[in-house]
Amino acid sequence: MSHLKRILQSKKVWLFLFILVLGFWSLPVLSISRPYAKIVMDRDGALLGARIASDEQWRFPPSKDRHHKFETALIRMEDKRFYHHIGVDPIAVLRAIKLNVEHGKVQSGASTLTMQVIRIAQNNPKRTIPEKIWEMMLAFRLEAALSKEDILLMYKHNAPFGGNIVGLEAASWRYFGRPPDQLSWSESAMLAVLPNNPALIHLGRNRKQLKKKRDRLLRMLYADGLFSASDLELYILESIPPKPKALPQKVPHLLFAPKTSWRTHTTIKKDLQQYTDEVISLHASRLSQNQIHNIAAVMIDVPTGEILSYVGNAGKIGDTKHGFHVDIVHSRRSTGSTLKPFLYYAMLESGELLPDELIPDIPINLDGFAPKNYDRLYQGAISASLALARSRNIPAIWMLKKYGVDRWYADLKSWGMTTLHRKPDDYGLSLILGGAEGTLWDLARMYHLLVWSLEHEEEEILPSIHWNEDDNSASDIPRLKRHISWFVTQSLKKVHRPANGRIINPTFENIAWKTGTSYGFRDAWAIGFDPQTVVAVWVGNADGEGRANLTGHKAAAPILFDLLRLRKSERNFTHPTTGIVSRELCPRSGLPRSANCPHGIHNIVPEEAQERTPCSYCTKFYCNQGCTLRMDSRCAQINELQQKKRFQLPPIMEYYYAKTHVGYTKIPPWSTQCTTLDQPLKLVFPRNYAEIFIPIDLNGQRGKVVFEATHRQRDILIHWHLDEHYLGSTTDIHQMSVSPSKGKHEMTIIDENGNKQTHIFSVEDSQ
Ligand SMILES: [Zn+2]
Repeated sequence: MSHLKRILQSKKVWLFLFILVLGFWSLPVLSISRPYAKIVMDRDGALLGARIASDEQWRFPPSKDRHHKFETALIRMEDKRFYHHIGVDPIAVLRAIKLNVEHGKVQSGASTLTMQVIRIAQNNPKRTIPEKIWEMMLAFRLEAALSKEDILLMYKHNAPFGGNIVGLEAASWRYFGRPPDQLSWSESAMLAVLPNNPALIHLGRNRKQLKKKRDRLLRMLYADGLFSASDLELYILESIPPKPKALPQKVPHLLFAPKTSWRTHTTIKKDLQQYTDEVISLHASRLSQNQIHNIAAVMIDVPTGEILSYVGNAGKIGDTKHGFHVDIVHSRRSTGSTLKPFLYYAMLESGELLPDELIPDIPINLDGFAPKNYDRLYQGAISASLALARSRNIPAIWMLKKYGVDRWYADLKSWGMTTLHRKPDDYGLSLILGGAEGTLWDLARMYHLLVWSLEHEEEEILPSIHWNEDDNSASDIPRLKRHISWFVTQSLKKVHRPANGRIINPTFENIAWKTGTSYGFRDAWAIGFDPQTVVAVWVGNADGEGRANLTGHKAAAPILFDLLRLRKSERNFTHPTTGIVSRELCPRSGLPRSANCPHGIHNIVPEEAQERTPCSYCTKFYCNQGCTLRMDSRCAQINELQQKKRFQLPPIMEYYYAKTHVGYTKIPPWSTQCTTLDQPLKLVFPRNYAEIFIPIDLNGQRGKVVFEATHRQRDILIHWHLDEHYLGSTTDIHQMSVSPSKGKHEMTIIDENGNKQTHIFSVEDSQ
């Protein structure tokens, strides 16, 4: 029996081998678990912003990316047989022992990359011989458990690169401002040298030494045939970068947003974000002169719903003075007039409105709710599409009253407005004038819904708006009707542009937009779109302080246009081919032409509204030759009279309409031969051309006087106007308490039937 055979038959030997194997497999597989920095990347992988890890290290979260140049340089420098050994390189160990013995001190550690990973995982213990042997055993164990690639990844994520920079990716961004796959051979070589010499980067004189080491590595790589001699010359000319660069600090609010991972891939486009930040910072300095400090904006790609640039709140996030840490894109603010297009949409879709249908624009008072137009004037009547384009408040109230608050409230919720927490009745009609709060996010989503529905075919699926690549699911909001969206867009194209010469641009023909200003000048909105981009802007103060000129038009619209300019679409909105019909309409009322309408025009209307009742504003009447007096069979032979058709508004609408529409001609007054009725309406006080005195009380305050009128008919409404300004309306007891200023005035009263009386009077102060 041979010696070997005897050994193999010994149970003790087998037991020893068994314990050895067991011991090896029970060695720990070291892993490295340290806190990560949080990073946000743009759609192409460029770094947008980063937040340092909780242990104050710039340690980027791991990625599986491979980096050929760096890995080649690193392995050449540190461990050239990395792919061939099993954690320990026996050739290097023998060489190290020889060197160390020759020099009588430690010259070379013969550390493989695997052993270096072990050292990092154990927080760099002291270099002793037992420690070295332990390291080797753990390295064997790690190699048995992980692939070479995984070990290399562990090294790349955790190697020190000087100061508090950990890992290749953080180092690449901080030293070169680029991701590691974009580094040159020279840059990759410098980073390959650094982990074992991290101190060299810091001190000016040591940087020469670092360059020497880098150049030596570059020559080795050249010798391996990785690049040409002329390339080598150029690489050696590259200088070592000065101190580390600051990391970019774009989209700071997304870095702190919920539902983000350590490494968040966004849909942001870095260059557009850069331009957006520049535009906003220019406007921020303009607005701050008026003590307006906060701006938020988003830019959305229409086809995909992807957010291309995002400003949560202009300003530095660390600056707590004006609440810049608050992401206003998700803050609840009064919506101003920004919801008006969606009422127009709802009424067109339900068939209860034609696009240019006439809507009253006259004083109203509904149980104490007396909304005013922005300019405090009345047009008498205005077409619904123009009322939307000009953002008239009173026509919007009429429309909502007709459509119903409950219905529209439900519509708004179904279109993705998430902030309606009160009951419809609590908002009432003020819902259309900014009575509810909304977020820039929700409003941007609703405008995106509008333009997406216009630009995309019925069978396409509406994407949700999102900035996180992982959130790119389909939206659960139903799409809008394409042809109705087109009518809304046509109206929004007519909105007057800001009167700032820089902004008016004829090539912006295909932009539809809307502004909003909240009560007390606290919120200024401007939301606009062309066929490929939606931009939504909010301007105001995070603390809610109102400022004069904080209006959608003056504060927010200039930003909207500067942002839309960055990504201008050349094409116009898609014209619908279905859902529309051509109808003959009365050009004055926008309703289907009736037999009494003097003229008709053919226009396209939504098929939903083609059955609207014909125009009832226009009437037929008889008058004398020359048509100066209205007459009928009571006072003339019909065949001596001429028949006329004319557009005629109800008196109160006519009163205001005639002032602003020069072409409007009233129906002539009745001939006295035809009517024996005298004037039923009488202004009793003040008398015509009267001089009246206003009492001044002891405090110097002007008192009031009570004006009085009578009407023969009971329960009729009288509207009071002082110098053409509406004061109010009375029924039953017609008294109006007023305090006119010193000087000449004109008092006009007008009843529901259009009877009118005007007295001129002057006011003297009493002593
Ligand atoms: Zn008509």
